[in-house]
Amino acid sequence: MQFTTGMQAQKILMKNRKLFTSLTLLVAAVLVFMSLPEKPNHKSPTGSLSAIIPAPQSMEETEGGEYYSSSLITVEGVEELESSWNSIEEFLKNAGLDVVEAGDVGGNLAFRIDESIEGEESYGLEVSEHKITISARSSTGLYWGFTTLRLIMPDVAETGGCSNGFYLPQVRIEDSPEFPHRGLLLDCCRHFMEPEFVKKMIDNISLHKMNVLHWHLTEDQGWRIEIDAYPRLTEVGAWRTELDGSTHGGFYTKEQIREIVKYAEERNVEIIPEIEIPGHSQAALASYPWLGCVGDSLPVANKWGVFKDIYCAGNDSTLRFLETVLDEVCELFPSNRIHIGGDEAPKVRWDACDKCKKRIEEEGLADSHELQTWIIEHVGHYLESKGKTIIGWDEILEGGLPEGAAVQSWRGMAGAIEGVHLGTDVISSPTSHCYLDYPLNNIDLEKIYGFDPEPDEASHGPGRVLGGECNMWTERAPQETVESKVFPRAIGLAEVLWTGPETTGKEGAYYEFLERLDPHFNRLALLEVEYGLEAQPVAMKLALEENDEGRKLLAKFIPVGSFIKGKGQFVSAGGGESEPVSFDQAIEVDGPGEVVAEINYRGRVLEKKIKYPVDFHAGAYRDISLDYTPSMYYTGGGNYALVDGKLGSDNFRDGAWQAVQGEDMEFTVDLGSETALDSVSINFFHYQDAWIFMPRTISILTSNDGEEFQVVNVIENSDVFVKNDYEGPINQSASLENVSARYVKVISENPGVCPDWHAAATMDTWLFVDEFVVRERR
Ligand SMILES: [Zn+2]
Repeated sequence: MQFTTGMQAQKILMKNRKLFTSLTLLVAAVLVFMSLPEKPNHKSPTGSLSAIIPAPQSMEETEGGEYYSSSLITVEGVEELESSWNSIEEFLKNAGLDVVEAGDVGGNLAFRIDESIEGEESYGLEVSEHKITISARSSTGLYWGFTTLRLIMPDVAETGGCSNGFYLPQVRIEDSPEFPHRGLLLDCCRHFMEPEFVKKMIDNISLHKMNVLHWHLTEDQGWRIEIDAYPRLTEVGAWRTELDGSTHGGFYTKEQIREIVKYAEERNVEIIPEIEIPGHSQAALASYPWLGCVGDSLPVANKWGVFKDIYCAGNDSTLRFLETVLDEVCELFPSNRIHIGGDEAPKVRWDACDKCKKRIEEEGLADSHELQTWIIEHVGHYLESKGKTIIGWDEILEGGLPEGAAVQSWRGMAGAIEGVHLGTDVISSPTSHCYLDYPLNNIDLEKIYGFDPEPDEASHGPGRVLGGECNMWTERAPQETVESKVFPRAIGLAEVLWTGPETTGKEGAYYEFLERLDPHFNRLALLEVEYGLEAQPVAMKLALEENDEGRKLLAKFIPVGSFIKGKGQFVSAGGGESEPVSFDQAIEVDGPGEVVAEINYRGRVLEKKIKYPVDFHAGAYRDISLDYTPSMYYTGGGNYALVDGKLGSDNFRDGAWQAVQGEDMEFTVDLGSETALDSVSINFFHYQDAWIFMPRTISILTSNDGEEFQVVNVIENSDVFVKNDYEGPINQSASLENVSARYVKVISENPGVCPDWHAAATMDTWLFVDEFVVRERR
């Protein structure tokens, strides 16, 4: 999914552009002041109003032709922009323009402070025949006004294409954001990202008027911020040995961080650092084992999940450590907010630790859950004394809330609603809409665009919804894939948060947004943003065709959106391939294999084909009865999920898997008539860190009347609770020679609660199943 278009030719053109001496610039400036520029004979590019994202609150095209600027642009009010002038000047110069500061009057681009404009981030932008005027009450508003101007300018401005001047449509825009907090969380711990990459991300969120980079800097799998007082955090904690023996890691020096913070400031982006407390801290414990309850040496984690070794809340030295780290963090980041995590902290170690037990007793706390509140409050007070407030994940609501804290709601919107009722500021980023690590078939652009960060229950105070964030967690996303996951989905959230859900929630709004996004992709390509798709490009539907000649399973690809073209075919497990056909034609599924789509997206054939594992077997589309109710989150698509011919993939969230928690799964398939059986097989998902285990036993029973069943095979898994890192489907099959039956029943026995060694010990385990395959004897 890489659509980079390097416009090298234009860059070279820009470099070869004639260099003016300062004297010619001065003369030119005077000429501009005295007379209007002559319109040239050669072609200059023209800007457009068709790709402004987020959509402005009000926009009025004005009459009277076009604005024209020669290659010389004179700028008034540069000093009003404060540090953001650096980035604006850089953009104008990169566009191929000669930039002259004009002082208070005489420019063809003017920045003006206007105290009568309400709202710190609001701005007015007017393009008239001879002048562009941007007004706002603050430098922030002026910067956003300029960002809108940038989107109106020809997209080739991004690569030096305005060296012969440019035209703009005349327009008047008044604009202000709906929410003050418009953010992206970037997890640079699970995968380290180069400083230049972080800067590019800052550029591109700022281009869409997002103003917060929530920078996730400490984790089980890596500590990424240099701390002078504790050098081992980056000597040891920044590096992990992967399962294949290779080393992954890296960290940001203080100098790099200062540079990134300054870079962000010049683009109106506030960086909120996240230092995880008390959980997600194994990299710190690997560096200094005394920080934990046990004191044993640990490696930096090299798997994903939730880990039980966390900071000891009973140890005063650990508290001093956290304070020192936060001292250095506060010194680096001017933001008045620090994110302290607070999520997913198992209490197993605390419950068994003498120091933690002593703390609970001395502080009069009820249990280890109140100890979590106590340590969050302790850190909150410490940061308060330094003029900072904290943000924490919604778990910090569980034990009572530290004064002044803001809550980031991730487990649905319940935390947001509760926070608002408690009078707390809230940031909405639920897994249902805002997790960019989720695949497109869970969260596509349309879903994000339909997100309401402030549902009715959260809109009546006394707390406030400050806005939202999309969260780019990177367990499965090394740097080179991150942009394709962030864009264009983050752009959808940017518009929701700026323009407001009242507008983006209107009928047809999404299609109007897509019409603006389409030309905007050209600009992103010029900026070398490796954006991904807006949705899973095709849906695959299976249907049974039954007639006198027998049963046939037919697959069809349904393109999502008019930009998608392509061909599909069936590739059997044995290697045979059907002739590729266009998406309007059906593909016959002849036994086990894959239906494969080759996608042509906006005229480009995608390297990666889309594949769905399928199987046309004797049990497919037969009646099935379930003795359990599937989890509402994992229905597999309905009651027939287990025999629908579509197999669960190696992603348990793909929508094909059916699951239950804490109970057995029993189902019966009616083959319609007595059938000579060869074998049955069933796929289970295995992912212990996500609490998904294999069944302890699988019993296969058959019957001819549907009442009296005989056990024909039992598969036993004695090692269900042996720790095993494998994540993916496991096939279990049983040969059924000499068995003929109409009904087949399968009972999969849930193994019980997570075992002692597990981070979620004592919690109910999950069983995930798809598909149940029946083979006839031939
Ligand atoms: Zn402890």
